[in-house]
Amino acid sequence: MSQPVKTSKTPASIVPKSEGETTAKGAPFKSQPQPKPKGQPKSKKKTKPKTAAQPPEPTKPKGETRIKFMFPELHQDISNAVAGQIPSLHFTNKDSDKGLINDYSTNVMGEFQCTNDRCRKSGWGSKRVAIRIRGYSNHGYNAVVYNQRCKRCNGLGTFMLDQTAYIERVSYRVIKWAGLTTVDKMPYHGGSSPPHEREFCEGCKAGVCPETSGLY
Ligand SMILES: [Zn+2]
Ligand SMILES: [Zn+2]
Repeated sequence: MSQPVKTSKTPASIVPKSEGETTAKGAPFKSQPQPKPKGQPKSKKKTKPKTAAQPPEPTKPKGETRIKFMFPELHQDISNAVAGQIPSLHFTNKDSDKGLINDYSTNVMGEFQCTNDRCRKSGWGSKRVAIRIRGYSNHGYNAVVYNQRCKRCNGLGTFMLDQTAYIERVSYRVIKWAGLTTVDKMPYHGGSSPPHEREFCEGCKAGVCPETSGLY
Protein backbone atom coordinates (compact mmCIF):
# COMPACT_ATOMS: atom_id res chain seq x y z
CA MET A 1 0.00 0.00 0.00
CA SER A 2 2.71 2.29 0.88
CA GLN A 3 4.46 1.90 -2.50
CA PRO A 4 1.69 3.31 -4.77
CA VAL A 5 1.28 6.23 -2.42
CA LYS A 6 4.96 7.04 -2.65
CA THR A 7 4.97 6.80 -6.42
CA SER A 8 2.03 9.14 -6.66
CA LYS A 9 3.69 11.59 -4.33
CA THR A 10 7.05 11.59 -5.95
CA PRO A 11 5.94 13.09 -9.27
CA ALA A 12 3.95 15.68 -7.39
CA SER A 13 6.92 16.56 -5.22
CA ILE A 14 9.27 16.68 -8.23
CA VAL A 15 7.25 19.24 -10.10
CA PRO A 16 7.43 22.01 -7.53
CA LYS A 17 11.12 21.27 -6.96
CA SER A 18 11.87 21.66 -10.61
CA GLU A 19 9.86 24.84 -10.76
CA GLY A 20 11.72 26.17 -7.77
CA GLU A 21 15.05 25.33 -9.41
CA THR A 22 14.21 27.08 -12.62
CA THR A 23 13.17 30.20 -10.81
CA ALA A 24 16.30 30.02 -8.66
CA LYS A 25 18.44 29.66 -11.78
CA GLY A 26 16.53 32.33 -13.60
CA ALA A 27 17.15 34.94 -10.96
CA PRO A 28 20.96 34.82 -11.12
CA PHE A 29 20.78 34.68 -14.96
CA LYS A 30 19.03 38.01 -15.04
CA SER A 31 21.62 39.64 -12.84
CA GLN A 32 24.63 37.96 -14.51
CA PRO A 33 24.74 39.46 -18.00
CA GLN A 34 27.04 42.47 -17.77
CA PRO A 35 28.30 43.84 -21.08
CA LYS A 36 30.57 46.38 -19.43
CA PRO A 37 33.68 44.15 -18.97
CA LYS A 38 33.48 43.16 -22.63
CA GLY A 39 33.45 46.75 -23.77
CA GLN A 40 36.32 47.92 -21.61
CA PRO A 41 39.18 45.92 -23.18
CA LYS A 42 38.03 47.07 -26.61
CA SER A 43 38.39 50.71 -25.63
CA LYS A 44 41.84 50.01 -24.14
CA LYS A 45 43.03 48.46 -27.39
CA LYS A 46 41.93 51.52 -29.31
CA THR A 47 43.94 53.87 -27.11
CA LYS A 48 47.21 51.97 -27.75
CA PRO A 49 49.30 53.82 -30.37
CA LYS A 50 50.37 51.47 -33.14
CA THR A 51 53.46 53.45 -34.14
CA ALA A 52 55.10 53.20 -30.74
CA ALA A 53 54.94 49.43 -30.74
CA GLN A 54 56.60 49.08 -34.14
CA PRO A 55 60.37 48.53 -34.06
CA PRO A 56 62.50 50.96 -36.07
CA GLU A 57 63.91 49.95 -39.44
CA PRO A 58 67.58 50.89 -39.16
CA THR A 59 68.84 49.55 -42.47
CA LYS A 60 68.37 52.79 -44.42
CA PRO A 61 69.92 56.16 -43.58
CA LYS A 62 67.75 59.23 -43.18
CA GLY A 63 66.43 60.89 -46.30
CA GLU A 64 68.92 63.10 -48.10
CA THR A 65 67.63 66.38 -49.52
CA ARG A 66 70.88 68.07 -50.51
CA ILE A 67 71.98 68.17 -54.13
CA LYS A 68 75.47 69.39 -53.27
CA PHE A 69 77.91 69.37 -50.39
CA MET A 70 80.81 71.39 -49.03
CA PHE A 71 83.51 69.99 -46.77
CA PRO A 72 84.98 72.86 -44.75
CA GLU A 73 86.15 70.29 -42.19
CA LEU A 74 88.72 69.06 -44.72
CA HIS A 75 90.27 72.48 -45.13
CA GLN A 76 92.90 71.73 -42.51
CA ASP A 77 94.13 68.76 -44.55
CA ILE A 78 94.30 70.86 -47.71
CA SER A 79 95.96 73.69 -45.83
CA ASN A 80 98.57 71.24 -44.59
CA ALA A 81 99.07 69.85 -48.09
CA VAL A 82 99.81 73.29 -49.58
CA ALA A 83 101.37 74.92 -46.50
CA GLY A 84 104.81 75.04 -48.10
CA GLN A 85 103.52 76.96 -51.13
CA ILE A 86 100.38 78.82 -50.00
CA PRO A 87 100.59 79.57 -46.29
CA SER A 88 97.56 81.88 -46.26
CA LEU A 89 95.00 79.63 -47.96
CA HIS A 90 91.55 79.90 -46.44
CA PHE A 91 88.17 78.29 -47.04
CA THR A 92 85.35 80.55 -48.30
CA ASN A 93 82.15 79.23 -46.75
CA LYS A 94 79.78 81.13 -49.05
CA ASP A 95 78.60 79.07 -52.01
CA SER A 96 78.70 82.14 -54.26
CA ASP A 97 80.35 83.43 -57.43
CA LYS A 98 80.93 86.84 -55.83
CA GLY A 99 84.60 87.77 -56.03
CA LEU A 100 85.34 84.72 -58.14
CA ILE A 101 88.80 84.60 -59.72
CA ASN A 102 89.16 80.97 -60.73
CA ASP A 103 86.64 78.27 -61.53
CA TYR A 104 87.34 74.64 -62.34
CA SER A 105 85.22 71.52 -62.49
CA THR A 106 86.58 68.01 -62.19
CA ASN A 107 85.81 64.67 -60.52
CA VAL A 108 86.29 63.06 -57.17
CA MET A 109 85.28 59.65 -55.93
CA GLY A 110 82.84 58.43 -53.35
CA GLU A 111 80.18 56.03 -52.22
CA PHE A 112 76.45 56.67 -52.20
CA GLN A 113 73.62 55.06 -50.28
CA CYS A 114 69.99 55.16 -51.37
CA THR A 115 67.83 56.70 -48.64
CA ASN A 116 64.48 55.57 -50.03
CA ASP A 117 62.94 52.99 -47.66
CA ARG A 118 60.88 51.53 -50.48
CA CYS A 119 63.89 51.05 -52.75
CA ARG A 120 65.81 47.79 -52.68
CA LYS A 121 69.03 49.29 -54.01
CA SER A 122 71.40 49.83 -51.11
CA GLY A 123 74.09 51.95 -52.73
CA TRP A 124 76.65 52.53 -55.46
CA GLY A 125 80.13 53.85 -55.97
CA SER A 126 81.29 56.48 -58.44
CA LYS A 127 84.67 57.63 -59.70
CA ARG A 128 83.02 60.54 -61.48
CA VAL A 129 81.48 62.59 -58.72
CA ALA A 130 81.33 66.18 -59.96
CA ILE A 131 83.25 68.77 -57.97
CA ARG A 132 83.48 72.48 -58.68
CA ILE A 133 86.51 74.22 -57.19
CA ARG A 134 86.43 78.01 -57.00
CA GLY A 135 89.20 80.45 -56.24
CA TYR A 136 88.61 83.87 -54.65
CA SER A 137 90.82 86.83 -53.90
CA ASN A 138 93.44 86.66 -51.13
CA HIS A 139 93.89 82.88 -51.48
CA GLY A 140 90.30 82.07 -50.74
CA TYR A 141 88.81 78.92 -52.20
CA ASN A 142 86.01 76.44 -51.78
CA ALA A 143 84.79 73.25 -53.40
CA VAL A 144 81.25 72.04 -54.04
CA VAL A 145 80.65 68.34 -54.57
CA TYR A 146 77.47 67.34 -56.38
CA ASN A 147 75.20 64.53 -55.27
CA GLN A 148 73.99 61.68 -57.43
CA ARG A 149 70.62 59.99 -57.70
CA CYS A 150 69.72 56.34 -57.38
CA LYS A 151 69.31 54.72 -60.78
CA ARG A 152 66.48 52.56 -59.47
CA CYS A 153 64.24 55.10 -57.70
CA ASN A 154 65.79 58.48 -58.64
CA GLY A 155 66.15 59.41 -54.95
CA LEU A 156 69.10 61.50 -53.78
CA GLY A 157 71.96 59.54 -52.30
CA THR A 158 73.69 59.87 -48.98
CA PHE A 159 77.28 60.66 -49.89
CA MET A 160 80.49 59.35 -48.39
CA LEU A 161 83.41 61.22 -49.88
CA ASP A 162 86.76 59.68 -50.74
CA GLN A 163 88.62 62.26 -48.68
CA THR A 164 92.08 61.44 -49.99
CA ALA A 165 91.08 62.06 -53.59
CA TYR A 166 89.29 65.26 -52.59
CA ILE A 167 92.31 66.63 -50.73
CA GLU A 168 94.64 65.77 -53.62
CA ARG A 169 92.38 67.27 -56.27
CA VAL A 170 91.65 70.50 -54.47
CA SER A 171 95.20 71.11 -53.26
CA TYR A 172 96.54 70.43 -56.77
CA ARG A 173 94.14 73.01 -58.20
CA VAL A 174 94.83 75.81 -55.72
CA ILE A 175 98.59 75.32 -56.13
CA LYS A 176 98.18 75.56 -59.90
CA TRP A 177 96.11 78.74 -59.54
CA ALA A 178 98.79 80.23 -57.34
CA GLY A 179 101.15 79.86 -60.30
CA LEU A 180 103.17 77.18 -58.57
CA THR A 181 103.27 74.60 -61.31
CA THR A 182 105.84 72.37 -59.68
CA VAL A 183 103.13 69.76 -59.31
CA ASP A 184 103.06 68.20 -62.75
CA LYS A 185 101.11 65.03 -62.49
CA MET A 186 97.48 64.74 -61.64
CA PRO A 187 97.10 62.67 -58.48
CA TYR A 188 94.87 60.18 -60.20
CA HIS A 189 92.77 59.75 -63.28
CA GLY A 190 89.27 58.35 -63.41
CA GLY A 191 90.56 55.25 -65.15
CA SER A 192 88.22 52.53 -66.27
CA SER A 193 84.77 53.16 -64.91
CA PRO A 194 81.26 52.76 -66.28
CA PRO A 195 79.98 55.55 -68.54
CA HIS A 196 78.76 58.66 -66.75
CA GLU A 197 74.98 58.72 -66.50
CA ARG A 198 74.04 62.35 -66.67
CA GLU A 199 70.40 62.03 -65.68
CA PHE A 200 71.46 60.90 -62.19
CA CYS A 201 74.24 63.46 -61.68
CA GLU A 202 73.35 66.72 -59.94
CA GLY A 203 76.57 68.23 -61.29
CA CYS A 204 75.37 67.65 -64.84
CA LYS A 205 72.03 69.26 -63.98
CA ALA A 206 73.86 72.28 -62.56
CA GLY A 207 76.02 72.44 -65.69
CA VAL A 208 79.30 72.19 -63.76
CA CYS A 209 80.14 68.52 -64.31
CA PRO A 210 83.20 67.94 -66.51
CA GLU A 211 81.21 65.21 -68.23
CA THR A 212 78.82 67.89 -69.42
CA SER A 213 81.36 70.52 -70.33
CA GLY A 214 83.55 68.00 -72.14
CA LEU A 215 86.75 68.67 -70.22
CA TYR A 216 87.57 65.00 -70.23
ZN1 LIG B 1 66.86 53.95 -54.68
ZN1 LIG C 1 77.76 64.62 -64.29
